[in-house]
Amino acid sequence: MAVNIKDIVRTIPDYPKPGIMFRDITTLLGNAQAFRRAVDELVQPWAGSKIDKVAGIEARGFILGGAVAHQLSAGFVPIRKKGKLPHETVRIAYSLEYGIDEMEMHKDAIAPGEKVILVDDLIATGGTAEAAVKLMQDIGAQVVAACFVIDLPELGGKAKVEALGVPVRTLMEFEGH
Ligand code: AMP
Repeated sequence: MAVNIKDIVRTIPDYPKPGIMFRDITTLLGNAQAFRRAVDELVQPWAGSKIDKVAGIEARGFILGGAVAHQLSAGFVPIRKKGKLPHETVRIAYSLEYGIDEMEMHKDAIAPGEKVILVDDLIATGGTAEAAVKLMQDIGAQVVAACFVIDLPELGGKAKVEALGVPVRTLMEFEGH
């Protein structure tokens, strides 16, 4: 029987702090059938279309994004926490629950007009994905979609990304934070 990938995501209550239900995808990544299935489902709407690049958000977005890029015969672009990339970068600040952080990518990683899909494991408030989309749009990328394994719909992240003109694909939802 086919695996139900939602059953394979592990939930850790009160991690990293009280009140957060941490949705741990390492159990999904470690299950060969579930990992393949999640990657296949993430790319399914774009199978056969020409995608130039897949951008993954550090760090879990690298694992999924690398697999998605391979599947679509696209290049892979890492979006990283500031100070990690060696060449010239473009940078954007975004809000976290407490304070702000910055993410960056190599300036020459995406050429103007290239079609890009953004990948991360989970969308919560959408702040991280929104910043990543803006960063890519600012350098002229055509962001055709943002894909996440998990959506936390109560936090409204999907609408934030869709407001930038980018359709959002998610494979499952969990209640709460
Ligand atoms: P946000 O910017 O609020 O959409 O947060 C998204 C980022 O935080 C993603 O990179 C997720 O990996 C991580 N994240 C937020 N909430 C959770 C959660 N409940 N379980 C696991 N990861 C989370």
